[in-house]
Amino acid sequence: MSDSVAVALRVRPLVKSELERGCRIAVRRLVDGVPQVTVNRNDSFTYNYVFDSSDSQQGIYESCVQGMLKKLLNGYNVTILAYGQTGSGKTFTMGTAFDGVMDENVGVIPRAVHDIFKEMAAMEEEYNFEISCSFVELYQEQFFDLFSTNKREESTVDIREDKNRIVIPGLTEVEVKNAKQVTDQLMRGSSGRAVASTAMNETSSRSHAIFTLTVVATRKTGQKSVTTSKFNLVDLAGSERCSKTLASGDRFKEGVNINKGLLALGNVINALGSGQSVGYVPYRQSKLTRLLQDSLGGNSVTLMIACVSPADYNVAETLSTLRYADRAL
Ligand code: ADP
Ligand code: MG
Repeated sequence: MSDSVAVALRVRPLVKSELERGCRIAVRRLVDGVPQVTVNRNDSFTYNYVFDSSDSQQGIYESCVQGMLKKLLNGYNVTILAYGQTGSGKTFTMGTAFDGVMDENVGVIPRAVHDIFKEMAAMEEEYNFEISCSFVELYQEQFFDLFSTNKREESTVDIREDKNRIVIPGLTEVEVKNAKQVTDQLMRGSSGRAVASTAMNETSSRSHAIFTLTVVATRKTGQKSVTTSKFNLVDLAGSERCSKTLASGDRFKEGVNINKGLLALGNVINALGSGQSVGYVPYRQSKLTRLLQDSLGGNSVTLMIACVSPADYNVAETLSTLRYADRAL
């Protein structure tokens, strides 16, 4: 396995709808402290980290995210992706739906933002930092600028390749001076995300949400140098197969496009994880992987958090997520 890609599996607790359905737990860790899960005590999978209902948001943040922040401030691009079926806990884990309340349920993004500013304050004598953030949604292979003040239909943006770098002309980059300004923006942006109900009877996210913090560090002492690094936090679209959501019409088209991004991401991470990064990495297969091209491979570290339900009812989807995440190692 490569050092640049790590995979964490998070098994959430049973939720109300599963309890009401009489679901039983089918996915569990067999041995405490070993990052391995079994499904129906049958198939077993090992990752870099495995978390279950006994792990708090803070615990997960501290064990696999916090350490990546040092890398970020050392000039690496850092990417965290949450993968899994709708309702598996991606948004909860990432904190993409931040509502301004800083309690124990707060997800990865607000926690990381808080620590990044703390870390930067400690490095202030040596460095000058300029930080900005952007927030885009990728829906049916179309980007929407979640920080745009325009109406949704008029907030579309697209990627261009400029001297081998990926840029999005016209994308709103908000300069930020402290953690509060970032979380205020996050809250503003997440209220504009497209949501659609599916037959799974829960609010479904049919789009990818990509929150990016860009840090420009200028060394003030000794030899002057400027480093730009990006922190990408990606709440991926639901990975479920179209059939289970009784997809048809528009919903079905969404499914096809979503799978294209997830499929391409799987291929890219697989190529990187198996140390093929010197050879062909299929970034161009989707807009998601094109956008993240600068941040996957090269001077970068990636954490994929695969989220699953523990319920017997969801075993088919859970196995598909476990296998997808397994390819990343
Ligand atoms: P997704 O974004 O993958 O569709 P959500 O993050 O919206 O899923 O989670 C679905 C539901 O499960 C939400 O009500 C959420 O609060 C709850 N949930 C998810 N993960 C956890 C967890 N680890 N602990 C408690 N509740 C959770
Ligand atoms: Mg979600």
